[in-house]
Amino acid sequence: MDQPHALVVASPGLGHLIPALELGNRLSSILNIHVTILAITSGSSSLTETEMIHAAAARGTCDIMELPSVDIEDLVEPDATVVTKIVTMMRAMKPAVRDAVKSMKQKPTVMIVDFFGTALLSITDVGVTAKYVYIPSHAWFLALIVYLPVLDKVVEGEYVDIKEPMKIPGCKPVGPKELLDTMLDRSDQQYRECVQSGLEIPMSDGVLVNTWEELQGKTLAALREDMDLNRVMKVPVYPIGPIVRTNVLIEKPNSIFEWLDKHGERSVLYVCLGSGGTLSLEQTMELAWGLELSGQSFLWVLRRPASYLGGSSKDDDQVSVGLPEGFLDRTRGVGLVVTEWAPQVEILSHGSIGGFLSHCGWSSVLESLTKGVPIVAWPLYAEQWMNATLLTEEIGVAIRTSDLPSKKVIGREEVAYLVKKIVVEEDKEGRKIKAKAEEVRVSSERAWTHGGSSHSSLFEWAKRCRLVS
Ligand code: UDP
Repeated sequence: MDQPHALVVASPGLGHLIPALELGNRLSSILNIHVTILAITSGSSSLTETEMIHAAAARGTCDIMELPSVDIEDLVEPDATVVTKIVTMMRAMKPAVRDAVKSMKQKPTVMIVDFFGTALLSITDVGVTAKYVYIPSHAWFLALIVYLPVLDKVVEGEYVDIKEPMKIPGCKPVGPKELLDTMLDRSDQQYRECVQSGLEIPMSDGVLVNTWEELQGKTLAALREDMDLNRVMKVPVYPIGPIVRTNVLIEKPNSIFEWLDKHGERSVLYVCLGSGGTLSLEQTMELAWGLELSGQSFLWVLRRPASYLGGSSKDDDQVSVGLPEGFLDRTRGVGLVVTEWAPQVEILSHGSIGGFLSHCGWSSVLESLTKGVPIVAWPLYAEQWMNATLLTEEIGVAIRTSDLPSKKVIGREEVAYLVKKIVVEEDKEGRKIKAKAEEVRVSSERAWTHGGSSHSSLFEWAKRCRLVS
């Protein structure tokens, strides 16, 4: 008999591809099933995206099929946001995905789509008997998304103007400092797309979410109650996290690790704002000044918008562009600034890392938590303001900037204050955050041991889908 076969469809972009590859890897290695990743690639796939696919293919745990995306120029306004473009593209990909599944020698019985691919849930007649959504983010985000269609009906005006945080049954209310960036302008199509996803998710057979019971028990219980009461979240939720990237990547730049080796235990701040996060020139300057002012050792993965690199990626080699005059000389030895793609998981695993200044993309957050590294939360886009609140107010492993989704420039004194609090451990609050980070690391490991909460949840799901007996 054929091995059970699950299909994971990844929407375009590294931020969607990485979680899909990791989910696929986890499913095939733990459940011992056949997994195919269908990676929808945008025409402009970055080198890193292609490398990532090749590296994952070389790992050999999953089949990987690339499907070039269709042209959507006529379907979106020229100034449409990335979210609108991706969702529109995934909707337009329905016939191509259907054909791809039909052409597979061994038909998958389970299909898993991501948040942007919920339109694919309506594909029929391809032999798939169970359709799931994978949310590579956390349970509170999931609750907000499925409640968005309700909020859309009851909240008047813009969400940024609400006076009272919005209530979601059993969950922490969502206030103006936790809004998704897609919620900032309700007249924008990307907001409508999010509401639509909120309607489509409960039409699946269930949701896999990248969190674990011990981290978000209360919110997960609220989602289950919602299902029992047949309210909004009508299908089961399976917490199967933390699923984080394992070392598939690309050669380690030795210079980084040689530099880290010279530093003491937990003494270096790692600064990285995700795969695409950039700051304005003014904010980059203030961050640099703040790092210098803190006197702490730092490893900074610096990304700058093409606009102030003269539009040429070649200028990226010029590390000093956009930094204060003499910054690199003054911080030599104390700080290392790199502009290339950094091996983040390996860096966070290095014993010298004592804190992570992060944009709070959920993958980065989990990579940090699974290593027990406390966070300076610097949210920039998507659901990152929510993540920052979750990390500071609910879990207690981070300290955050005073920034709101409405944006302001964070000054150098604030940067220095936050960095010192996390890395130097000079006061009670800093010590408490560090102790909590260690506690969460232990609980993240336990969730994946045999019989641990996420391990059990994954098997419960797999049994329901008849992927295992
Ligand atoms: N990442 C990396 N090196 C870099 C920048 C990012 O390895 O120089 C990885 C990081 O480890 C994480 C992913 O890219 O796995 C970023 O995902 P996240 O959800 O944190 O943020 P996004 O980039 O999607 O906003």
